[in-house]
Amino acid sequence: MASPTLGDRQIWEVFRRGAVAAGAAGWDFLFPPSCLLCAAEPLVETNFCDACRQEVTAPVDQLCQRCSAPVGPNLNTQRGCVYCREERFAFRRVLALGPYESTLRRTILTGKTAHGAPHISALTDMLIDSRLPELLVEPFDAIVPVPHHWQRRFWQLHAASETVAERLASRLRRRYAPHILRKPKATPLQSSSTPSERRKQQRGAFTTPEGCRLDGLRLLLVDDVLTTGATAHAATQALIAAGAADVLVVVLARGLGHRGSKLH
Ligand SMILES: [Zn+2]
Ligand SMILES: [Zn+2]
Repeated sequence: MASPTLGDRQIWEVFRRGAVAAGAAGWDFLFPPSCLLCAAEPLVETNFCDACRQEVTAPVDQLCQRCSAPVGPNLNTQRGCVYCREERFAFRRVLALGPYESTLRRTILTGKTAHGAPHISALTDMLIDSRLPELLVEPFDAIVPVPHHWQRRFWQLHAASETVAERLASRLRRRYAPHILRKPKATPLQSSSTPSERRKQQRGAFTTPEGCRLDGLRLLLVDDVLTTGATAHAATQALIAAGAADVLVVVLARGLGHRGSKLH
């Protein structure tokens, strides 16, 4: 039998893609996707139902413009809020989806488990939807995830900071740059340290590869949670030492250091 011509192959490819799409549509018809959080109702082209979406998304006008901490409505926070006014951050500002508590906290913790990447991606979509006007006016050149020490990364199927950064890069069509920041120094995973101890632990924890120059680059530094800001501050210092001109931090949630929360 003669081998298929290019035309036959194209027809087969169209047939194959059609069969895969029909199979997926049939699967969705038989088992409609439900909310990742409450599994309550069938959804179309979204991962969270409206009720859960509202629960994890804080109104942007009630978040500090500098550090994204929850503040009351109608407050001028251009120069910071009660949570950040005394802080000297190397980064310019923080954009978050909401406070690290209740449903958002639970969803992030689920997202950090071995098969939690879809939760993290879905939260990132909500973050983009919620803060899109600000992300669009920020003229950044590349998106950098906060790296983990290799011993910690070795055992992880996925890292939340990378999942968020990749999703942001793909949806905002910006360069994903995971290799320009490294973390050669291991720091405690969970800590009961005070904020000042935490800052000491993070000092010098990050570097850029030898010879790497970031002259004039405006970067989006991405992590899952920001609490004291010590991690993002230390990472930003390494980026600025390599020449970066401006660093904006994007996280899923802003923690305020409640007992039991993970300090970053
Ligand atoms: Zn739901
Ligand atoms: Zn603030």
